[in-house]
Parts: sequence; C-alpha cells; structure tokens
Amino acid sequence: MKTYAFGVIVLFTLLLSACSNGNSPPGSSEGKLKIVATYSIIADMVENIAGDKAEVYSMVPIGTDPHMYDPLPQDTRKVSESDLIFYNGLNLETGKGWFQSLLKVTNKTDVAFVVSEEVAPLYLSEKGKESQEDPHAWLDIQNGIKYVDLITKRIIEADPDNKDYYLQNQANYVAQLEETDQYAKQEIQKIPAEKRVLVTSEGAFKYFSKAYGFEAAYIWEINTDNQGTPDQMNHIIKTINYYQIPALFVETSVNPKTMETVSNETGVPIHSKIFTDSLAKKGEPGDTYITMVKWNIDKVVEGLSQ
Ligand SMILES: [Zn+2]
Repeated sequence: MKTYAFGVIVLFTLLLSACSNGNSPPGSSEGKLKIVATYSIIADMVENIAGDKAEVYSMVPIGTDPHMYDPLPQDTRKVSESDLIFYNGLNLETGKGWFQSLLKVTNKTDVAFVVSEEVAPLYLSEKGKESQEDPHAWLDIQNGIKYVDLITKRIIEADPDNKDYYLQNQANYVAQLEETDQYAKQEIQKIPAEKRVLVTSEGAFKYFSKAYGFEAAYIWEINTDNQGTPDQMNHIIKTINYYQIPALFVETSVNPKTMETVSNETGVPIHSKIFTDSLAKKGEPGDTYITMVKWNIDKVVEGLSQ
C-alpha cells in the first residue's frame, strides 16, 4: 500500500514537472504562484504579501496611464498563464474596455479579483457622470489597507499551505501602512488650513482630500476625459487665481504639457511631480506604494506651506 502511494506521488510529480515545461531556468518559477496586477501600485502591494512565494507581473508600464492601455502580446501571455489576477476596478481599467476584453480573450475572468471591493466608492462630480465611480481610492492609505487585506485573502485561497507566511507579511506591511497614514495626517498640519488646495492635472485626489483634509482642484476630472479643453483651462486658471495657490503639481502618469500651459498663464510654478496612477521607476524615490505616498505628502507640504 505504502509503495503504491509512493508510486502515485512520484508519477504525479513527474507529470507536474512535465507540464511546467523545462524552458524556465532552474528554481525560477517552479511551484510559485503566477500573479498579474494591472499596474505598479497593486503589484507592489501583492509583492509585499506574496514575498518569495509568487512571481508578480505588473502590466501597465511605470509612468503610463492605466485608464487607457493597449495590452502587448506578452501581457496576453502572462494573463493566460496566471493563477491570480488583481485589478483596481472602480472605473479605472476601462478605457476602450481594454482590461475586460483581455480577460475575455484569455478566458481568465474567474481568477480575476477587484482589490477595491471593500472600499466605499466616491463618484465623479461632472454633469452626467455622477453615477461613475472615481477609481483613485488607494491615495487614502486606509483604503490601501483594505486592498491589502483582500489581496491577502485571495492569495491564501489560492495557496492555503503558506497561509501563516502570508498572514505574517500582511501584519508587517499593514503596520508600516498605518505608520505612513499617521505620518501623512501629522505632516499635513504644517500647511495653513486656507492653503490646503491641491492642483493637479487629473482629479485623482478625491479620496486623498477626504482623508487628509484638502480641497482638490484639477484640469480634467478623469484621464478618460478630453484633456485641456478651453472650458477646463478657464476654470482651473480662475480657481488658481481665486485661492492664490502658490504651487501646482503634475502627475508622472500624464502628459505635463497642459499643466505647463496653466503654469505659464498664471505665473504659478509647478512645484513638483507627484504620483497618482503609477509608482516611480525601480531605484528612484517613490518606487513603492509607501514611498510614493510619502513623496506626495512631503512635496505637497513643501509646496503649499511656502
Ligand atoms: Zn487616474
């Protein structure tokens, strides 16, 4: 009986290694979960939980807009091969339906999970768009923690044998996120209350503003909108003059030209780049979710308290 069971295990192991083809270098991905995240911020959260137990592929390149994206052949391949797929949802990966089409083509809808499931959504304010969710929930760290909890739950469902490892990673990471949230709330106090108006290209700071006590002003409300129309330009220039805003910010994942025009028209400098829909390149400041939030806070405090 024992010999029989052993034989079955050997056969099974042989079958498994035959399936996972011999092309990959030894030790690279054997036995690891294959996880795809739609963009870099979610990928970083996933890496913090999955550690060395998964291979994480981030689809939309650094510095690129995840609202609109044209998947490459390698994206299709990675999605096809994946065990788990994480995406933001809340009306983010919607431009031309790029992400849902990709799931359909690869037949992977059943392993794709929305990380924002537990977030209380905020909605767009533009006329006719009031029923559309604003996607940028992660800019409030408390929402980021909700993302992380959900990611952990799904990873454990896919790989229950390593549950303790994932739970430990979650505890460590959430403690760091709580600390960052506290840091943000304290630092913001350095800006005089009447100066807490944040001007960016896209209206990506609704959740951030609500969490940390800001007004958010912007040129266009969401990246899938037309960008820099005469109406939008008039409106933002009036707002900047009215509030006597001392500093403008431009996101790394949009074309900076429109904000440069606003800066020229108003004489108000662009104080800094800021991160919304993408992390920085690896090795640069802001290359993790935590450091991108810290960068944003530091630059905003510096720019608006002058
Ligand atoms: Zn955005």
